[in-house]
Amino acid sequence: MSYFQPDFIARSAPVRVRFGAGARHEVADEIAQLGASRALILSTPQQSETAMEFAESVGRLAAGVFSRATMHTPVDVSEEATGYAQEIGADCLIAVGGGSTTGLGKAVAYRTDLPQIVIPTTYAGSEATPILGQTENGRKTTLTDAKVQPEVIIYDPELVATLPVSMTVTSALNAMAHAAEALYARERNPLSTALSVEGLKAFVEAMPRVVADPGDLDARGETLYGAWLCGTVLGQVGMALHHKLCHTLGGTFDLPHAETHAIVLPHAIAFNEVSVADQLAPLAQVLGRESAGQALHSFAKSLDAPMALRDLGLKEDDLDRAADIATQNPYWNPRPVERAGLRALLQRAWEGAEPQ
Ligand code: NAD
Repeated sequence: MSYFQPDFIARSAPVRVRFGAGARHEVADEIAQLGASRALILSTPQQSETAMEFAESVGRLAAGVFSRATMHTPVDVSEEATGYAQEIGADCLIAVGGGSTTGLGKAVAYRTDLPQIVIPTTYAGSEATPILGQTENGRKTTLTDAKVQPEVIIYDPELVATLPVSMTVTSALNAMAHAAEALYARERNPLSTALSVEGLKAFVEAMPRVVADPGDLDARGETLYGAWLCGTVLGQVGMALHHKLCHTLGGTFDLPHAETHAIVLPHAIAFNEVSVADQLAPLAQVLGRESAGQALHSFAKSLDAPMALRDLGLKEDDLDRAADIATQNPYWNPRPVERAGLRALLQRAWEGAEPQ
């Protein structure tokens, strides 16, 4: 069955993607194709060694390394990195890492319009979107701007093979969340639906193989392929309840990003399935079950994913406040979000119970 719709508006970003084991060794060629010759390489402190290896491998094309990328993209770090980029006369940015490092590259590009090459080492998918989330004075805000969209992505399965299994699982569920919500997005179109289903399929097929053998490069490649597709749809259509709820929990209670997504996803999907079971049917089908929410719950459990918000340190007393904040500013969702239903959802996610 095709995903044809009689009316739609679709948009795709002009992004160049280079994919394959060892593809990272072609980064010098990608710098040259951008017409650049002074790259600033970015990473987290934990991945500074990888950043240094890139600097060495591109030789004189590296103008500097900045290894202070931090979760939630604090504005002060972005401003410091921007100052450094200007000081060394950088003419392109290379972000090597997960969503936090990609976020720093985007924040510098937003301020300088420098072209970006992103080399992802998780499945977060930020490299494929024009969205920048940043924090200032404890508040996380997001913006969408063409300057933020990276021009080049290099996906190398060898780099993601070092991601510990627990992070691999939560990062994969985080990526699948983009595609799951894209299936019922208001702006969904035949292309975003096809990309979502293919991305979900890639994760469902490859994740058991990755968990069994984290060094399996074929399986790692298939999951990275899934991350690209799921990230691409995140850049094409708007998200709803699941992403808003994770944003609230992450921002207000400082819960870790990927773990929170992994736990909330089956519950948010089960909540919306009441209204849009037909739109979620391809997800249920990919997972071989009748209910998408139940199927995601079983899939997450089979991968030994974290299942309960209480295990992330959230207090039961905080659930009322979380429900208040998450219903304060109305947003579009396929099923109207009322406080009582959301509070019940949060209770189940907190306990690690089956979704309803
Ligand atoms: P992350 O980038 O914070 O990485 C977590 C930790 O894992 C870091 O210490 C990192 O150095 C380390 N790490 C990453 N890859 C590794 C590897 N292969 N081997 C060993 N260690 C590795 O985590 P994330 O989940 O990738 O990104 C989360 C952030 O991305 C959040 O701030 C989220 O808001 C943002 N995000 C943004 C978008 C967007 O479109 N703007 C999309 C998705 C996520």
